[in-house]
Amino acid sequence: MKNNREKTVIKTSIISICANLILVGFKTAVGLLSNSIAIISDAVNNLSDALSSIITIIGTKLAGKAPDRKHPYGYGRIEYITSLLVSAIVLYAGITAFVESIKKIITPEEVDYNITTLIILIAGIVVKFTLGLYVKKKGRAIKSDSLVASGADAFNDAILSISVLASAIIYMIFNVNLEAYVGALVSIFIIKAGIELIKESIDNVLDTRIESNLAKSIKKEILKEKDVKGAFDLVLNDYGPDKYLGSVHIEVNDTLTVADIDKISRRITKQVSEKYGVILHTIGVYSINTKDENIIETKKKVEKIVFSHQEILQMHGFYLDTKDKILNFDIIIDFKAKDRESIYQNIYDAVQKEFKDYKITITLDVDVSD
Ligand SMILES: [Zn+2]
Repeated sequence: MKNNREKTVIKTSIISICANLILVGFKTAVGLLSNSIAIISDAVNNLSDALSSIITIIGTKLAGKAPDRKHPYGYGRIEYITSLLVSAIVLYAGITAFVESIKKIITPEEVDYNITTLIILIAGIVVKFTLGLYVKKKGRAIKSDSLVASGADAFNDAILSISVLASAIIYMIFNVNLEAYVGALVSIFIIKAGIELIKESIDNVLDTRIESNLAKSIKKEILKEKDVKGAFDLVLNDYGPDKYLGSVHIEVNDTLTVADIDKISRRITKQVSEKYGVILHTIGVYSINTKDENIIETKKKVEKIVFSHQEILQMHGFYLDTKDKILNFDIIIDFKAKDRESIYQNIYDAVQKEFKDYKITITLDVDVSD
């Protein structure tokens, strides 16, 4: 299935590259013949689309390379580097087109549109709209965000081309020359697209928060195991689009045996991998104390102390051992809190004061996922 998806991405991208390159050829020709910076900027815009599709293909090909000893996590992240490269090219093209347009606004030049110019511009608009529909449809079918985005981009380009056409018609009928302004407008859109692409690539390289829905669905899936009472600290690192490796902590009763937990964790790993393609390489275990009758009361006391701090998002992994005098739990403090260390210390001191002869371990977890 994965291979089919890759093939669809590549096939759709190749069609889009060919269509764009043909547009670039015709538009550059009529742009030069008519001395129109608006049409040339429009051609540059189409060229940046073709380039970004070419780099998408190279990225997808390289990203699909099998892992090896030196790169055991595979090559998935290469796609982020290639997309950074594309964004830089797009940004450069946009700035160049903008500078040229400004020059022409300052010193206007004669333009010479004719009926061929109009026909080529209209054909370009039709091609872009059709391409947009086609790419978007394919993208939706295989759930490829980048294809859907590039389809949407083709619509925007068609609208930009309409403004180029409009400026040509206005010139031919009213002899008002707006084309340098339209050129500047088109280049602003190219620059905007370049900046957005750069932001997106950087976010991908930085490992941003996992999508809320994915995190929640995985936790829900884990909780389907009847012996699992809670799922926490889900960490996922991505190694390319839709390739995740991660870990999670689960709460189970202290009456389970190691053999029980082994079976449970293997089932969880299998389910999550089959349903979400996410590899959970580690499942940590918190044991829930079932032997101590006072546990509920003690837990309530601790919860009262912990949640008296508004910045606390979650408390889990509570364990009390009255024989060895051990008290363990984890807390998650909101990133919004200014001084997480001091909140932690306050809670620690308050709990220690309440349970004087206990050895207390509070783990300060990070709010990595929803
Ligand atoms: Zn934890």
